[in-house]
Amino acid sequence: MSEPRCLLIVGAGLTGAVVARSLAEAGHHATVIDERDHIAGNCHTERDPETGVMVHVYGPHIFHTDDAEVWAFINRHCQMMPYRHQVKARVGGQVYAMPVNLHTINQFFGTALSPQEARDFVARQAAHGEGEARSFEEQGLRFVGRALYEAFFQGYTRKQWGVAPDRLPAAILKRLPLRFTYDDNYFFHRHQGIPREGYTAAVASILNHPGIALHLATPFERIAPDRFDHIVYTGPLDRYFGHAFGRLGYRTLRFEREVVAAPYQGTAVMNYCDPDVPHTRITEHMYFAPWEMAQFDRSVITREYSAAAGPADIPYYPLRLLDDKALLDQYVARARASAGVTFAGRLGSYAYLDMDAAIRRALDVGAHLCAAFEKGASPDAFVHPV
Ligand code: FAD
Ligand code: UDP
Repeated sequence: MSEPRCLLIVGAGLTGAVVARSLAEAGHHATVIDERDHIAGNCHTERDPETGVMVHVYGPHIFHTDDAEVWAFINRHCQMMPYRHQVKARVGGQVYAMPVNLHTINQFFGTALSPQEARDFVARQAAHGEGEARSFEEQGLRFVGRALYEAFFQGYTRKQWGVAPDRLPAAILKRLPLRFTYDDNYFFHRHQGIPREGYTAAVASILNHPGIALHLATPFERIAPDRFDHIVYTGPLDRYFGHAFGRLGYRTLRFEREVVAAPYQGTAVMNYCDPDVPHTRITEHMYFAPWEMAQFDRSVITREYSAAAGPADIPYYPLRLLDDKALLDQYVARARASAGVTFAGRLGSYAYLDMDAAIRRALDVGAHLCAAFEKGASPDAFVHPV
């Protein structure tokens, strides 16, 4: 093993925790800081003091993956309970199944099509184009055709992202399946679950290693970085450079909490696709823990509103507008020219990463750092394409 190094990990979210763990297990010392007063970043969960319901504080979080190594890693740090995410979508006073499946299609068009008939029917409505779709809108029109696109995707997406869907990347919509069966599982991955004691307990277990020191309520800007051999930065890329080239676009969220009689909406997440409803979705948190749901007669719901992130807001979603690429490229070039720091995570790499992808990448970053130290080489600024 190489001589132990002292690293500063900025951010105690999943990425920071997993990188710190990889380094500590290889014999290095990791000091993890976070400006929030809790660990786990945006997947933080806590029990609501009034009702006892486990609340997903920064919005609904379901773990789903096809990556066997990631699944094994998370299962070492929590008891993953079986969970199957089902989402309903309200459109024009009716409730439909999401993602779009045979039930959605038959209900929306008032038909009783078979799987093959529905496939042919949607194919006739779908737009056709050369090569890969460039924008969300192009992707949507090719994916489901105009009628379904306008009902289920156009309004919701404008509210969620605050811009016309023709300025958004097609990749956002590629997250969702389209099914010509009655399967309404929101995800298509082999593994799916929710930690029995919530995500924060899982992240606490990841951070629980003698080689890791944790300091909460500690912004990076208050630290003297020269004390460390290397920094892993999981905060916003543009913030690290004092927004020198301007601000990258992010969406922030406002969560409006209410305690109501249980059950309220009968499912974990109800999307509101109509543009005249101001919130994007309502989450009813007790449905994330079916194993404890029977005990609650009161329920916690949160209405979620999306807005452009201002300087004081939490940046939840990297916007990645098609026309933002030039600004991102400037920051990436500046990062690559900076020694002693590696950028990672949803904010550090300005990427729309799910938790499994955040863990996968963090394991890769940890391995890259350990290998570089072993060889006496300087670690790269980014381990994955940005
Ligand atoms: P974060 O969780 O953002 O952690 C970064 C941490 O760095 C934060 O705690 C922040 O306080 C800290 N920080 C930033 N800057 C500084 C600084 N300068 N100084 C000190 N600390 C700093 N993924 C799924 O797999 N399934 C889902 O269902 C799902 N739903 C989601 C719903 C919403 C509303 C959102 C926003 C995300 C969702 N995700 C989901 C994605 C998931 O939240 C991320 O994959 C995961 O949290 C990424 O972890 P991270 O550590 O990279 O980033
Ligand atoms: N989307 C939509 N209508 C819906 C659900 C999703 O238009 O009812 C679009 C929206 O643009 C969203 C994207 O599909 O951002 C991806 O959906 P997902 O549920 O993965 O979003 P997330 O959970 O990350 O907010």
